[in-house]
Amino acid sequence: MQKIFLYNTLTRKKEEFKPINDGEVGLYACGPTVYNFAHLGNLRAYLFEDLLKRTLQYNGYKVKHVMNITDVGHLTGDMDMGQDKMEKGAARDGKSAWEVAEFYTEAFKKDLRVLNIVEPSIWCKATDNIPEQIAMIITLEEKGFTYKTSDGIYFDTSRVKDYNKLSHLDLETLREGARVEKNEEKKNPTDFALWKFSPVGVKRQMEWESPWGIGFPGWHIECSTMSLKFLGDQLDIHCGGIDHINIHHTNEIAQSEAATGKKFFNYWMHGAFLNIAGGKKMAKSADNFLTLDKVFTENNLNPLAYRFAALQTNYRKPMEYSEEAIAWAASSLTGLYEKIIALGREIGIIDENYKHKFLEKINDDLNFPEALAVLHEVLKSDLSPADKLATVSDFDLVLGLKLGNFKSFINNEIVAEESEYVKYIFGLKEKRDLARAQNNWLESDKIRKEIADNGFEVKDDANGSRLIPFDYHKIFTEPNGFKYDYINGDLYVNKTNNVVIFEEFLIFSDWRNAWPVLFRKYDNVKYFFNNNISETDKLDIYKRYWN
Ligand code: AMP
Ligand code: ZN
Repeated sequence: MQKIFLYNTLTRKKEEFKPINDGEVGLYACGPTVYNFAHLGNLRAYLFEDLLKRTLQYNGYKVKHVMNITDVGHLTGDMDMGQDKMEKGAARDGKSAWEVAEFYTEAFKKDLRVLNIVEPSIWCKATDNIPEQIAMIITLEEKGFTYKTSDGIYFDTSRVKDYNKLSHLDLETLREGARVEKNEEKKNPTDFALWKFSPVGVKRQMEWESPWGIGFPGWHIECSTMSLKFLGDQLDIHCGGIDHINIHHTNEIAQSEAATGKKFFNYWMHGAFLNIAGGKKMAKSADNFLTLDKVFTENNLNPLAYRFAALQTNYRKPMEYSEEAIAWAASSLTGLYEKIIALGREIGIIDENYKHKFLEKINDDLNFPEALAVLHEVLKSDLSPADKLATVSDFDLVLGLKLGNFKSFINNEIVAEESEYVKYIFGLKEKRDLARAQNNWLESDKIRKEIADNGFEVKDDANGSRLIPFDYHKIFTEPNGFKYDYINGDLYVNKTNNVVIFEEFLIFSDWRNAWPVLFRKYDNVKYFFNNNISETDKLDIYKRYWN
């Protein structure tokens, strides 16, 4: 196995990565607080984690990736004062806190899919793990690390010798930071809540019984509890954005090591911010946030261009958002697709020299800007088109840009299933075409409406009629529960079992117009491939049907 070097916030050094167990990595990534949509800044953090995970996998590691969903109402501000975020979201949206959590969790998962981010091996929700959090607080209490105030059970940070080992800040500076929100009852400004009591006479939407009375857990305890529960001793890498270093991760380490008496995670990795012009952080609370839908879908831009844009800047450097940068990324990605399509369909052999060079870059603390330079070198080289295609497709296992062949689908699961939905929609289209041919406008308009109710617009042009989905990210659910969406429905089989590959999609530089063309060309699409067969089977299908 090649050596991988990663920058460890704990030591402030690039270190050779050595997992606890050979060939396996336990990776914990702090997930979203689901009271609002994820903004592009949040998604930058998850893109960084995806690139880390894919790099480890590309190197042959089996990665167990755990991500939590913070669906419990922790409070605005890091220091446990302020308003409950979930209840705030609930009041704003006119829903219950539970509904808000569910809604934004789904929206978040959709964003990940759209960005071709591989799903974690384990999703875990704070609200599903309350007893475990209570158990950990009891342990801390038994070991004498806690004290009680009028509003909760707190962790006494003065009991921990090396409280600042992650932040590397002197304690006075940490204390200064913690003084922003005053809580006179705390013994030390850096102390933090493990359990908060529900205010007397107030019924909160999310609250639980505990040995200390009805209330809810603090934020940090959930990540300590769930990483220990789901990773066990496999505590290799813990990630998040740089804003987590001084408080959230510092507190996770303090309480976990206090509870277990053992080291909590060997490597801590942090992604730098996405800023808006002027160096201001994009933040949920600041209302300056831009979502994937707003910037990409609403502007007819391929959202993978955001992934491409993020690859241009090292994860430890700030990235600045601008419309120009996004437009540049979108057109450059299209340019890249065009170059790859021009290589043809034949797959040759992966060039080992370039692969080695690429690996060296990504294994050097995820140096993706230089890894992309290697990709461009391959395309400019004198390798045969077939070997170029093989090499680039191999790189795409890590880049995840869907660079034009089946290998980019490895992370999408696949299920072959006849789509009743597609049959139904195309049936309507045929009926409408017939009505039009008979000048039966009343009937044709009625059917157009029915089609619209199902998410498609009908467009008529010189070639006949076409169906265009209103929302390209919509997930359709069939009566049998089978789900698919257009972004991920990359692989199709037509009636005669000829596979229609994603390539068709790439030929057109305006990605939104690609689908209608595909639909027009393959009206007889009857089977949807979406996710469930093994990689070996996929390879088999690919070999059988390619060409
Ligand atoms: P939150 O949902 O606020 O808990 O944040 C989810 C993730 O996004 C965390 O890992 C944060 O560190 C990260 N994050 C928040 N804002 C930004 C930003 N502007 N740029 C990059 N990462 C961010
Ligand atoms: Zn966390």
